[in-house]
Amino acid sequence: MTATALREALVSIVTVAALALVAATVALLPARSHAAALEAQSPVPELAPAAVPLALQGPPTAAHPVLRAAPPAAPRARPHFPGVRAGVSASEPVRVPHRPPARLVARVRRVVAGGRRTFVRAADLREGLKTGVTAAAARVAVGLTPLASRSVAGSRVPILLYHQVAETASPAYPLTITPRAFEAQMRWLMSAGYRVISLDEFIAAHRRGRVPRRAVVMTFDDGHRGVFLHAYPILKRYGLPATLFLPTGAVGEPEFPWIRPMLGQGEDPDEYRPLTWDEVRAMDRAIVQLGSHSVTHPHLGKLAEPEIEREVVESRRRIERETGARVTSLSYPGGIGRYGDHSEVTRRVLARTGYAAGLVSEIGRNDASADIYRLRRLSVEASDTLDTFRAKVTGAYSFVRGLQWAAQRVFSDPSHY
Ligand SMILES: [Zn+2]
Repeated sequence: MTATALREALVSIVTVAALALVAATVALLPARSHAAALEAQSPVPELAPAAVPLALQGPPTAAHPVLRAAPPAAPRARPHFPGVRAGVSASEPVRVPHRPPARLVARVRRVVAGGRRTFVRAADLREGLKTGVTAAAARVAVGLTPLASRSVAGSRVPILLYHQVAETASPAYPLTITPRAFEAQMRWLMSAGYRVISLDEFIAAHRRGRVPRRAVVMTFDDGHRGVFLHAYPILKRYGLPATLFLPTGAVGEPEFPWIRPMLGQGEDPDEYRPLTWDEVRAMDRAIVQLGSHSVTHPHLGKLAEPEIEREVVESRRRIERETGARVTSLSYPGGIGRYGDHSEVTRRVLARTGYAAGLVSEIGRNDASADIYRLRRLSVEASDTLDTFRAKVTGAYSFVRGLQWAAQRVFSDPSHY
């Protein structure tokens, strides 16, 4: 370990402490003053300031200069915790104006009018914690990147998980990255000497018991039209392969039912609609290979075994019939075992029905001993800067898996991508 690398790591740790302080300050001060303002208007004196401090909107990271260079991502109204969802992303400046959410204000007014005391809402507290911890974890990961890059430990392959590449974004859907950010990531991979290999190449290498060094696998879940419009041309231009996992029940439909609640906030619906089969067929199979993402996008692990079998077999059959492509892998919708997205039973069904691989959304990279039916992935999201992207690829971010694991035992998370 060089002195520079050590210093980087130390700086990260100090930064985490500073972030926690900033988080507390940012979270508490404006909310208190808001509570004070309401009290001033109201004849009811009993509203404690502690009733409100949960307007945890602007995450603390905005104050940190190192994290300033955010990708041109949409502002995110809802903090997203890497640990909790597939989407494990590191967080970044969420540029949301710092004011109490309307529902919180309404609630405070209701409480004041009713003359009742209120308490800290657990959900708000949870969101605040997630935001702070996420930001701190991202900062640490970025600080650790130089160390991880120099590591001579056994090779591990990052499998990147993308959902949407689009010019427009809904603030409630944190998985959209811009075409510019996507291209910058691809260019960085190439300039840093990474080789993007297909998932099939990875599977074959895994079978031989040795996965390649400095290799990366790219995957896309769900099949938004934005992937065809924006990501595909970039992949094609640079000759980079990727696997697209399709939920066959949604292909050609006007919208994804499970994403609908998060949309309608400024995004272009045409970028967000599911691909049609014609669009799927139009993509060069040497660039975009196809995998199954089930038929109806359920929590597969919660289904009875015959239903699991129907989801995985019918989706594969449909893709093969529509495109002539061979399907050998499946990405579990949601991808988090703790939330019932995959299980021993789903693993058994995949093996029995002839799948070569299954991919989850739990954080991590994969070596030759990885469970081929539970390959880990790193989600790339709106909040990622090029620095956090590098941290994910080099392995510096992998420790966040521990936080994700812990968070999944404490929090339930209804979002399901
Ligand atoms: Zn999905």
